[in-house]
Amino acid sequence: MRTPLVAGNWKMYKGPTEARRLALEVRNGRLGSRDGTEVVLIPPFVSLAAVEEILRGSDLRLGAQNVFWERQGAWTGEVAPDMLRDAGCSFVLIGHSERRTHFGETDVTVARRLRAALDAGLHAIVCIGETLSEREAGSTESVTATQLQGGVGALASSDWSRVTLAYEPVWAIGTGRNATPAQAQEVHAHVRAWIAAHAGATIAREVRILYGGSVKPDNAAQLMEQPDLDGALVGGASLESDAFLRIVTAARPRA
Ligand code: PEP
Repeated sequence: MRTPLVAGNWKMYKGPTEARRLALEVRNGRLGSRDGTEVVLIPPFVSLAAVEEILRGSDLRLGAQNVFWERQGAWTGEVAPDMLRDAGCSFVLIGHSERRTHFGETDVTVARRLRAALDAGLHAIVCIGETLSEREAGSTESVTATQLQGGVGALASSDWSRVTLAYEPVWAIGTGRNATPAQAQEVHAHVRAWIAAHAGATIAREVRILYGGSVKPDNAAQLMEQPDLDGALVGGASLESDAFLRIVTAARPRA
């Protein structure tokens, strides 16, 4: 049974004051919930401490939006995996398309960050996904396969229990245009088949594959009905507690 996971990527929104308020609303909204869905809040680095304080003692998890691969040193502006652990993070997002598009992230750097995150004991959410022109050219499968090979291709079997994949078509992120449930399912099935071929059938059955790209309360349930979709990575709709909690409610366990 795969435990569903819904993660809220707050991007570059919510400094400490607003982050504290939003985290509190989400925590209060989840009080007493027994739906078995894992929920992760991913605020900007500067708000991690504020959110950690609110989440402490709850079953909500804290994640960071990126991580560097070195342990420490003269790397101005970077944050090391152990520092994230120390700040209370158990999750980290790696290879988000905004990092790939605007900050030169490549499959090579994704793999380096992932290795360092796993070695530090973090759980990683690794993002993949095609651009609109790649989809229109019929390259979705080859693009995502290349991203998988470069990003997670070198993992050992024992690493996979702390890896979640997020399929996020770039054309659907922040655009209000989500993939249809059928489009998402098609790629998720392809990703799971890739994992079966490269890491084995057991890992493929167990690994969670999230969908991300304009997930909203009104499309979440239909998306989550898809058999290979194990939750959501939510951007815009995670900035409003009611919308986010309604998406969380739409997730369901997978056989
Ligand atoms: C994201 O930031 O990963 C994302 C999917 O954003 P949005 O939900 O706003 O499309």
